[in-house]
Amino acid sequence: MARYTGPVCKLCRREEQKLYLKGTKCTSPKCPLESKSYPPGQHGTRRRFKQSEYGIQLREKQKVRRMYGLMETQFRSYFEKAERAKGITSEVLLQMLERRLDNVVYRLGFAASRKTARQLVLHRHFLVNDRLVDIPSYLIRPGDVIQVKGKSKKLGVIHNSMKKIRDGKLLPWLDLDKAGMRGTLLNNPSRADIPLEVNESLIVELYSK
Ligand code: SF4
Repeated sequence: MARYTGPVCKLCRREEQKLYLKGTKCTSPKCPLESKSYPPGQHGTRRRFKQSEYGIQLREKQKVRRMYGLMETQFRSYFEKAERAKGITSEVLLQMLERRLDNVVYRLGFAASRKTARQLVLHRHFLVNDRLVDIPSYLIRPGDVIQVKGKSKKLGVIHNSMKKIRDGKLLPWLDLDKAGMRGTLLNNPSRADIPLEVNESLIVELYSK
């Protein structure tokens, strides 16, 4: 599956918001957004005009898509699934994105960013319910147990992340056994328990045109 391979800090600057794409750098003073709060490029510092309704909706969609590292076709397909499912489309969309295996690995603190989580999953370091799963988009269901595979438990990248990223701060819909390097998705996350500074209803408005 294709994915964006260009400079990622540029994406945050474009959205004028931290998208947390680079792990520990994002929460350190090294984050470029701490010093440059204007969009990238030659015209980044120019006076900006009022955005159209479409422009605002588009930016909100781009933000979410980029946070989860998805290309347009993949993102659109999540939206279409969310639209067909029961419940509020915008909330179901975020729930599906949060239940992706690479995101759950990131949220559990096994990886410093979703990008690293994706790499670790692709390199076959995780088991789901004792079965090896190497598909980053695999949807985790409530009750599923995600565990670091035997030999992979020694990987420095996972240990560093577990030490640096989450010291005890875990989302309420996840459970983590740090010593066993295993986590459980307790339930479908509610919107209030998904830490994303976005207005997802604008995405629904955009795609419903
Ligand atoms: Fe975005 Fe992280 Fe880069 Fe800061 S360091 S601009 S949050 S990717």
